[in-house]
Amino acid sequence: MSQSKIEWTDRSDWNPIRGCTRVSEGCRNCYAETLAGRFSDPGQWGHSFAERLLAGGRWTGKVEVQWARLDQPLRWRKPAKIFASSTSDWFHEALPVDEIANLFAIAVAAVHVRGHTFQILTKRAARMREVLTSEAFWDQVNAEAGWHVREYVDPLARRSDDARATLDDYDAENPPPGIWLGVSAEDQQRADERIPDLLATPAAVRFVSCEPMLGLINLSRVFDHTNEHSIDAPGGRSFFDPRDQDGEPSPRLDWVICGGESGRNARPMHPQWARDLRDQCGWAGVPFFFKQWGEWLPEKGWYEDHPVSLPLRVWNGSAWTDNPEINGEWMARLGKAHAGRLLDGVEHNGMPEATR
Ligand code: SF4
Repeated sequence: MSQSKIEWTDRSDWNPIRGCTRVSEGCRNCYAETLAGRFSDPGQWGHSFAERLLAGGRWTGKVEVQWARLDQPLRWRKPAKIFASSTSDWFHEALPVDEIANLFAIAVAAVHVRGHTFQILTKRAARMREVLTSEAFWDQVNAEAGWHVREYVDPLARRSDDARATLDDYDAENPPPGIWLGVSAEDQQRADERIPDLLATPAAVRFVSCEPMLGLINLSRVFDHTNEHSIDAPGGRSFFDPRDQDGEPSPRLDWVICGGESGRNARPMHPQWARDLRDQCGWAGVPFFFKQWGEWLPEKGWYEDHPVSLPLRVWNGSAWTDNPEINGEWMARLGKAHAGRLLDGVEHNGMPEATR
């Protein structure tokens, strides 16, 4: 049974990093920041990582690995998909590379020994790419992962050396199996900034989470500003010349997650944004996971059955308003539980096939 409320994972309780800082609009209503602010009195776990909620509840910028939690996945015997460090960011600029390598070594060993799968999501895609293409990083990961494997396979059964012997040496050309890497992208600007770095990072599975989805995202025309070409990310093609119809082969996305925002200050997700993502994935054969509407649901049809007064937002073509005179898409605030996770009546639970 899943130990996480997040529909696309089994566990989200391995949080070995504490603290973070906001990077973009997708962070505006950061759940982890609010929680840390709520428990920020002296002696509480959020102390010094976030201001008190009454004082704004913002991250202070302090980020630390919680060493006591480091080896938890190696103790969990039942294989699980683990959304790793869901309350922070593995590639936060305040985390030294050797500490990121410590975390990766645990993940590599836990895939090998316990059969877990790690789902790592970042908003700092450029740093992820830089770290994971470094030879020194992988040298450290391989050495430490071997040590963990020996430590955690039952030494009395004398299997530990055998297990170590079957652990491969990984590097940028040969990324470890069972570690999925993803970026969050809330709008086209963030998709353009982060997806090219993701696709240039070695990984068994690459995914994008468009949650909270705050604008239209065309994954089939991601613009890589560094190399000045566009990428069809689900289709796996790059287009250096706009007149070129076919493009050139390039790494592709293996999985797309879509979701609206939840929480007190949640912003609505226009249904057409979600439909477009679903269709882009469908055309390219990429698994699509519709996680949730969040707090807001398209009101069309719903009001006929539920004639009560609810907060409304109306899309005026470029922004959300509360002006009922506007003839645009209407969204009603029903709350996450009632809004559910059906898109045009269908539950989308696509998951990637791990290729390594
Ligand atoms: S990167 Fe994630 S954890 Fe960090 S502030 Fe943004 S939403 Fe919160």
